Amino acid sequence: MDLYAEIILDHYQNPHHAGALVQPTISARDSNPLCGDRLQLDLRLDESGRICEVGFKGEGCAISQASASMLTDELIGKTLVEAEKLSNEDMHAMIQVPLSPARVKCALLSLSTLKKGILHYKISQSKN
Ligand code: ZN
Repeated sequence: MDLYAEIILDHYQNPHHAGALVQPTISARDSNPLCGDRLQLDLRLDESGRICEVGFKGEGCAISQASASMLTDELIGKTLVEAEKLSNEDMHAMIQVPLSPARVKCALLSLSTLKKGILHYKISQSKN
């Protein structure tokens, strides 16, 4: 097995920031029905608007869960504006292994869940 496949397996078996947060600032869920991946991503913002705590829980294939674990590492310390700028290319750069078209959706599930959460948060804030 090559190094990057090992890194993915390690994130899958020992996910970083695993588990939902209590009363998160932002919480979003999404799924990838093609593969059966499900994800919940929770974020807490500190007073300066930076992400100070992240938690996720989910089920599904190794790529979907490992990419979520990798993304949570990236998110700590970022503002929502910075988090929103994370792109599909950034996810591919984190994962590093070549992905088949079917697996790309698995890899991007955590990013789409993040963007959905930020969007809903902004909408809720604009109502106040
Ligand atoms: Zn998958």
